[in-house]
Amino acid sequence: MPSILQCIDCAQQYPIDRVIYTCAACGSLLDVAHDLSAGGGVTRSLFDDRLGALSPPYNSGVWRFKELVYPGIEDSAIVSRMEGNTNLYEQPRLAAFAGVDTLFLKHEGENPTGSFKDRGMTTGVTQANVLGMTRVACASTGNTSASMAAYAAYAGLQGIIFLQNRQIALGKLAQGVAFGATCLQVNADFDRNMELVQIVSEQLGIYLLNSVNPFRLEGQKSIIFEALQQLRWRVPDWVVVPGGNLGNSSAFGKALREMFEVGLIDRLPRLAIVQAEGANPLYRHFAGGFKRFEPVKAETIATAIKIGNPVNLRKAIRTLEWTGGVVEEVSDQQIMDAKAIIDGVGIGCEPASACSLAGARKLVENSVIRPGDSVLAVLTGHIMKDPEATIGYHTGELPGISPRLRNRIQQVDDDLQAIVRLLN
Ligand SMILES: *Cc1c(COP(=O)(O)O)cnc(C)c1O
Ligand SMILES: [Zn+2]
Repeated sequence: MPSILQCIDCAQQYPIDRVIYTCAACGSLLDVAHDLSAGGGVTRSLFDDRLGALSPPYNSGVWRFKELVYPGIEDSAIVSRMEGNTNLYEQPRLAAFAGVDTLFLKHEGENPTGSFKDRGMTTGVTQANVLGMTRVACASTGNTSASMAAYAAYAGLQGIIFLQNRQIALGKLAQGVAFGATCLQVNADFDRNMELVQIVSEQLGIYLLNSVNPFRLEGQKSIIFEALQQLRWRVPDWVVVPGGNLGNSSAFGKALREMFEVGLIDRLPRLAIVQAEGANPLYRHFAGGFKRFEPVKAETIATAIKIGNPVNLRKAIRTLEWTGGVVEEVSDQQIMDAKAIIDGVGIGCEPASACSLAGARKLVENSVIRPGDSVLAVLTGHIMKDPEATIGYHTGELPGISPRLRNRIQQVDDDLQAIVRLLN
């Protein structure tokens, strides 16, 4: 049976080539549903044998898992920049900071445009290709637009990006401009831009590539597939991920369910979603027992997760149910201190990514994660995305944040003896 689109609430089905993002019957989110009967035709060794592949599509860390991502796709339709294949770090000083014995960091900043968004964009732009769309659009806090601009340019499509009015990290803005996207800076926050782009895309027949598009999430599932493969298919006790629009949180749940269903893993890890205190609508909803959801007005230095009304809310809640998951919040101070620790061991990441480590530490402090538990934490973006946040921390110029792990730039005259004295 070929893959279909299916409503997560009323189970209404739609053909895979229908341009539709939410259920026409009830308005809820859609899944791309695959036929995984008879194990979906996959085994661990099928994927292990493709490691180190030199040719497309299996040289991509997304398309290596094609049978679980988009089984029916013709290889010639795939738009890939050989995304994925990111490293898994085991760094004792970071494990000690979190307070656990075993911590693995999956660095998604090592993707072609510097964030995990590339994993969702290869599938999203591939689907745009399949559907014969010539224009693609997204609203973005920065990384989605950087990634979409790159993949659209690569595929010869017009990319249109809706950027919020302020606080776009410089590296991300530069990418969107450089990759030749049509850049609209709208005088509104991300959540309003998200509404606008949905309306405009609908009216003008432009293909929408925010993570409400279920094909994005199919690609992002491969973060989990690949990490588990790197762990020799041994399941960690916890997976910790930052939560903004909750695309990853949603994709991870689906990935884990499907891996379990086809027998690649024998149990599910628990998922911990970490939000910034100033952009914590899911955390509040979780803490309030999921009674009534209320969007928030988002404010945080971690601009990638500065989102007050996440589009994938329902799928993220589903993931929490499936995995016995939890939601935690961390302050901007905790985020920037954790980032300084990650940067300081030579790995580096952008502020939002540091939520994973800060959140893991807080969950250990709160006795939710036990010191003996094994933790897989995802670093979502590259350190060079947001140089202003990094420099601002170390110069002590970030409002409300004290640079506890400051690396001061030392000024010295053109004076050999003064330099020698300083270094002694
Ligand atoms: C997009 C993004 C996030 C948020 O991911 P969601 O899937 O929207 O929850 C976190 N960190 C970085 C660096 C991002 O680019
Ligand atoms: Zn429905």
